[in-house]
Amino acid sequence: MEWNQVLGRVVEEVAPLRGSGVVADYIPALARVDPARFGIAVADLEGRVRGAGDWETPFSMQSISKVFTLALVLSRGDGTLWNRVGREPSGNAFNSLIQLEHERGIPRNPFINAGALTVTDELISRVGDAGEELLAFLRAESGNPGLRVDEEVAESEVAHGDRNLALTHFMASYGNVRNPVPTVLDQYVRQCSIGMSCRDLALAGRFLAAHGVRRDGSELLTRRQAKRINAIMLTCGTYDAAGEFAYRVGIPGKSGVGGGILAIVPGRCAIAVWSPGLDARGNSVAGVAALDHFTTLTGWSIF
Ligand code: GLU
Repeated sequence: MEWNQVLGRVVEEVAPLRGSGVVADYIPALARVDPARFGIAVADLEGRVRGAGDWETPFSMQSISKVFTLALVLSRGDGTLWNRVGREPSGNAFNSLIQLEHERGIPRNPFINAGALTVTDELISRVGDAGEELLAFLRAESGNPGLRVDEEVAESEVAHGDRNLALTHFMASYGNVRNPVPTVLDQYVRQCSIGMSCRDLALAGRFLAAHGVRRDGSELLTRRQAKRINAIMLTCGTYDAAGEFAYRVGIPGKSGVGGGILAIVPGRCAIAVWSPGLDARGNSVAGVAALDHFTTLTGWSIF
């Protein structure tokens, strides 16, 4: 099947689901997005990108940023990161405090909020301005110099950031935060508030399909590191529904409360989908369905 046929079929199949689910409202600036929007883009290893629907409309990348900060930390060597954060699915909500107390301030994995705050802390220690480092990387990989932090979303998240502040302070009480808590929180919120379209995101995530090799041919990650990030996406990337996502979609994916999902077919392509209506576990209803159709039509589930 040709690309435009595949993408056309996916758009058709998910049409009845557009507008299903609920838009995240705990960050008020996200609550105003039209839940019926839907876009999909696919970037191949050669850097070609194709899309359908609202694939060029920017949305808030939110937790999808966690994949990129992890990659940027690991590109500078694992160091002590894996003493500070685990690699197991959490089984608790993405912003839960409970497990942190049981495991003495060590978050279960880098994709729940506590783990991502640790990764951001680590990136700050290594590069200083983690947010700028991330933006520079995303701009280079997407070829879009216009990518920026959506200041309204960032402010909205700071104003409603008690939970993330509590998580960071709690980890700090166990000695698992190295930089000042307000700095870590500020950088974390800024990384989540970057606006990207499906087009930008598929291109930016392409290196994970290309075994760690960037758009310019340089190596960001070793093959082993790229394999490992994809594995953590598969096991921990879609909140408490990683099992369901593997069952339906069958490839590594990372979702965000803005309704985006970045998914990787190792050795082939990166796919970005966006639709703001979320299911009870926080994953995009039409986005997951679109990826389900995509891997079924192409036969590219890893299973
Ligand atoms: N910035 C959001 C938060 O920390 C990210 C949540 C998400 O996308 O999972 O709550």
